[in-house]
Amino acid sequence: MDLTWTDRQDELRRRFTVFGRERVAPDSARRDREESFDRGLWQELADAGFWAVNVPKRYGGDGGDLWDHVAAFEGLARGADDCGFVLTAAAHAGLQQLLLRYGTEEQKETLLPGLVSGAIGATAATEAAGGSHVSAVTTTARPAPGGGFSLSGGKSHITNAPVADLMMIVGRVAGIGPRDITLFLVEKGGRGVEQGEQESLLGLRTSPLGPIGLDDVEVPPERVLGQVGGGLDVLYWCLAFDRMIYGVIVSAHLEALLPTAIDRITTRRAFGSPIGEHQYIQDKVVDMQVTVAASRALSYSTVDALLHPDDTHRASLLASCVKLLSAEGLVRAGLELVQLFGHAGFESGSGIERHLRDAVAFRIAGGTNEMQKKNIFNQVLRAHRRDLDQ
Ligand SMILES: Cc1cc2nc3c(=O)[nH]c(=O)nc-3n(C[C@H](O)[C@H](O)[C@H](O)COP(=O)(O)OP(=O)(O)OC[C@H]3O[C@@H](n4cnc5c(N)ncnc54)[C@H](O)[C@@H]3O)c2cc1C
Repeated sequence: MDLTWTDRQDELRRRFTVFGRERVAPDSARRDREESFDRGLWQELADAGFWAVNVPKRYGGDGGDLWDHVAAFEGLARGADDCGFVLTAAAHAGLQQLLLRYGTEEQKETLLPGLVSGAIGATAATEAAGGSHVSAVTTTARPAPGGGFSLSGGKSHITNAPVADLMMIVGRVAGIGPRDITLFLVEKGGRGVEQGEQESLLGLRTSPLGPIGLDDVEVPPERVLGQVGGGLDVLYWCLAFDRMIYGVIVSAHLEALLPTAIDRITTRRAFGSPIGEHQYIQDKVVDMQVTVAASRALSYSTVDALLHPDDTHRASLLASCVKLLSAEGLVRAGLELVQLFGHAGFESGSGIERHLRDAVAFRIAGGTNEMQKKNIFNQVLRAHRRDLDQ
């Protein structure tokens, strides 16, 4: 794995840091207060070329690779000071990557240009009965005349659902046996598609999250993503990608918060000296920096694994490691940032408590921390058994 960034990647990181700092950050506190997603800002991000970075030129992109995409994401997360907006981007990125990797030529030609130029994507697995047990989804596709499907069911707590133009829906095909999980591409406005209102959340309030209702939605055969019955393998790749991006976001976002912590501990005085002279206080900043470095290194290792299609287990293992480590680190950092500011950090609207509220979501979205541990353990056990068999 070569970790030398190209000039283009450095430029992308700088460009989207500036975009985040100048366009996203200034109004992020207001959007958090008002629980609003800014579609205009989203369009500006697309117009600035963010979604073109990793898409081949023939589908309206710039032809860059996954590392270019990661560099752009790092820049956005570093500048934006808005985890909600950036996680909305992560959800969209998941769909874009799925199409790039598993889409048919027709799907790429038809759907990618829109996703590059301002349409919003969502990936919907979770249902009201539970999100952890992904393969237990009950949304069902009945085969319809002409080779298509009639899709019915419902999805809950889906990032971008209230505003999405294109949704990937995880369902199961009736009557084809146990390997029935299948992914369907459903567009906004189709008959029987109902996109619910934005839910009110503890954190990530700038990201529109809500339910999707599906009532006998007609899905033509060319809107199946991947193979009928082959949805789980595709979904696991998507989950690994998402978890890697979470690590990228945590490292960049937290790194950008470090100066806030340093300013505080070097200017706030207690017992006759800056509080930063006390080792209990220094320890909090050290922990933040360790999370930044570890999340970054692990997410880069995961990118490398994702780029080796023969090594899906390594990608899955590393992705769960980085998701777990970065989510735990971000929650600790959010708590300690409040602590460094004392009462001022605990005040609503201080701008400090928002980081803690946002951080809590990282333990749940993209698979809970418990599910990451379950996957890590299973992958370790699997590797151990394989070694014994050899
Ligand atoms: C901000 C945010 C954004 C989201 N965006 C999306 C999205 O875009 N698409 C999407 O599909 N979903 C999305 N979700 C939903 C998310 O994926 C689910 O909330 C998550 O998978 C957990 O499902 P659940 O909430 O139903 O909890 P449950 O599955 O009911 O679990 C409840 C608790 O039990 C624990 N648990 C369950 N089984 C076990 C076990 N075997 N061992 C130990 N502990 C266990 C879980 O870890 C959790 O702590 C989002 C959620 C949030 C908060």
